[in-house]
Amino acid sequence: MPSKHNAFIPAPRILLGPGPSDVPPRVLQAMATPLVGHLDPSFLSLMNAVQDGLRGLFRTDNQMTLAISGTGSAGMETCIVNLIEPGDSMLVCVNGVFGKRMTDVAERAGAEVHVLERPWGEVFSIEEIEEALAKHKPKAMGIVHAETSTGAWQPVEQLGALCREHDTLLVLDTVTSLGGVPVEIDEWDVDAVYSGTQKCLSCPPGLAPVSFSSRAMHAITNRQRKVQSWYLDINMLANYWGTERAYHHTAPITMNYALYESLRTIFEEGLEARWARHDLNHRALKAGIHALGMRYTAAEGHQLPTLNAVSIPDGVDDAAVRMTLLEDFGIEIGGGLGAFKGKAWRIGLMGHSSRKSNVFLVLSALEQVLRKQGHTVEPGAAVAAASNVYDS
Ligand SMILES: *Cc1c(COP(=O)(O)O)cnc(C)c1O
Repeated sequence: MPSKHNAFIPAPRILLGPGPSDVPPRVLQAMATPLVGHLDPSFLSLMNAVQDGLRGLFRTDNQMTLAISGTGSAGMETCIVNLIEPGDSMLVCVNGVFGKRMTDVAERAGAEVHVLERPWGEVFSIEEIEEALAKHKPKAMGIVHAETSTGAWQPVEQLGALCREHDTLLVLDTVTSLGGVPVEIDEWDVDAVYSGTQKCLSCPPGLAPVSFSSRAMHAITNRQRKVQSWYLDINMLANYWGTERAYHHTAPITMNYALYESLRTIFEEGLEARWARHDLNHRALKAGIHALGMRYTAAEGHQLPTLNAVSIPDGVDDAAVRMTLLEDFGIEIGGGLGAFKGKAWRIGLMGHSSRKSNVFLVLSALEQVLRKQGHTVEPGAAVAAASNVYDS
């Protein structure tokens, strides 16, 4: 490479957007350890440990639990292409970008897609889902637990039982919930679940944890046709992640080191303690956001602790605020997606980024930037409100 290319030195950033989130130094350090081969005995035992850790994280005994090579969207695609054969019907609940993405993936897999829609920021009721299941009798239903585009937290506890009554396989997106809020795959009877490493697990993007119930595996092993995607075919991946250890594709070794280390940090902290931390930091941020005169886009009672979507005050320049946060404070927050473009900011408090110091930092930075924009805010009110939450 010509010498005029300098080494890439990223600007120092605090990642408080919709992902990726900040990665703890010990995870970065794990990524700097030497490679071994992807069939090396030491790597195979690391894969076993990753699978065990993912079972603990998903709270499942599912044998078929593994990390797909790819980001969260590859996890989505894995669940759908393995369960769906051309002509199968799939019900997808759409109240934001990621539900919408699921419909696109399902169509490409040849599904006859039925869409149940809700306005952005809202969640689905059990009654309307039951009605749609009864009407369409789909083979599978897909729903997003934590809709990152709106900050809405979908109740899913009863959906598995409901899907079983209708002989439907439940596919759950936990990309922005896993590791941040309770996820109980066995207790909730979820058949196929996917997540991503870059949100609440605080790893770089690159792996997608997935898990399949025995019902889902029955559907997958009894397909009429081959899975449309060679790369994401669970039947083939099972031979690499299972006891045969047959070569399928070269595992991204370094990413698996990172996920392993991230899982260690998660279980050292404890899942319940981690959920409590995300909840506390969210409540403190929310108190501060309200003190700044802003409102959440999702309804009260359905606001995600991991992704705080707030509406942009009238007359405030969205892009200017985000640029100033980045340039003057090194803070990245997310802009609005889709229907919320220009209307909402998305403040992620995920994994390692969910910290008291970050809550105070982003609130005081926002206060200064909003004041510069002519938005009246009482000096110090946001930080004081957050402080009250921590003290109480
Ligand atoms: C981020 C996200 C995805 C996609 O993950 P990528 O890592 O961007 O591929 C899917 N679903 C939800 C809810 C997400 O937040």
